[in-house]
Amino acid sequence: MKVLLINPNRYRFPPVPPIGLEYIAASLEMKGHEVEIVDLCFSENPYEDLDNALVAYTPDIAGITVRNIDTVLYYTNEFFLDKIKEIINHIKSKHGIKVIIGGTGVLANPEGICDYLNADFAVAGPAEDGIIELLDTIEGSGDIRKVHFGRFSSKIAYHRKSSKTDYRKYFDAGGIAGFETHKGCSSSCAYCLEANSRVVFKEVNGVIEEIRDLADKGYNHFHLCDPEFNEDLDYSVDFCTALKNSSLDIKWAVYMKPANFNRKLFRLMKDTGVYLITLTVDSWKKCSQYIADIEGIIFSAKSSGLKIAVDFLCGFPYEKEETLLEYLDLFRRIQPDSVGINTHIRLYRSLPITRIVLNDDTLRKYILGNLDDKTLIEPVFYNQISKERLEELIGGDKLFRIEGLNKGVNYSRIVP
Ligand code: SF4
Repeated sequence: MKVLLINPNRYRFPPVPPIGLEYIAASLEMKGHEVEIVDLCFSENPYEDLDNALVAYTPDIAGITVRNIDTVLYYTNEFFLDKIKEIINHIKSKHGIKVIIGGTGVLANPEGICDYLNADFAVAGPAEDGIIELLDTIEGSGDIRKVHFGRFSSKIAYHRKSSKTDYRKYFDAGGIAGFETHKGCSSSCAYCLEANSRVVFKEVNGVIEEIRDLADKGYNHFHLCDPEFNEDLDYSVDFCTALKNSSLDIKWAVYMKPANFNRKLFRLMKDTGVYLITLTVDSWKKCSQYIADIEGIIFSAKSSGLKIAVDFLCGFPYEKEETLLEYLDLFRRIQPDSVGINTHIRLYRSLPITRIVLNDDTLRKYILGNLDDKTLIEPVFYNQISKERLEELIGGDKLFRIEGLNKGVNYSRIVP
């Protein structure tokens, strides 16, 4: 089949290259399909560019990535689906071809988002293998379900089609490149769409060749796109060892969780060009080992010469203010480079935290957004700590920042 993959993401704080589409393009080509990518991020006339691509390429089907359905943060929130819906309606009415959606955002409510966007099919979860299975079904004569659940079963690092993306534009606009070492996360954070998802690691040398491909073209600044880098300590150490042996001259930033670390890993990360760790921390029902791990990971990172920015989510149902105060004291004591505090929890329909909130009438007063729409596709948040109270508790300490008030990401705030 001829497939046109479309990146509709025009959010530029910072702009993010469509790495997911590059992986899917590689997977499709490996199975004998023809693929083109049209990237609308910097387009001055998106519909004209889209029409030109559809007329010139005459695809059999289009695939659109839904990276996020909104910016997830309460302040300065931007909802992306209405613009994607316009694009899908345009493709279907003017060009008469069917549209598949995929991407992490779809996991929030696969059926609901597929209907909201008027898409024909959705692949929920990793789409590298899922889209192949879906196209096989479409080409065959079997029943086609609207929502297809993708599973990443291959350890192959597909030779992704980074040549189909104009990385110069992304770098000029403050963006950087990305790569991933695995899919999935074994942690069970009640507020996260990637919780308890199947973990599959990619073959290390293939990932390093991907990085080399971009670094050789002069794009040597990366952010890891894994849910969290340290899913498995042995794999992380093996990956950094191989990267060190490759002698690639890159700088990169990672997401990590408070688990699975040691000094050896941090030394290797420093040696291979890591300059920044964004550490995911939340206050939802934790044991004492969790606090010890936060302390350990921040101390180890700092003593290895790595900067560390904490993304801290708090203000969960039934949580007392003392819990927030304990975490603020912890961060003041161990002094990471910054702490972004988020007290607004985005409620997606598929999340355990959403069920907890919706099943207790006493919690409903803390909900911000329209609950009449049961799909929860348009932004709905849970918030029990006001901005004014949070500012009081922070007390002007520059270590802390209220998340979402200003657009931006840690790697552009903390430069190497
Ligand atoms: S550790 Fe990170 S990626 Fe994994 S479930 Fe928790 S928040 Fe999500």
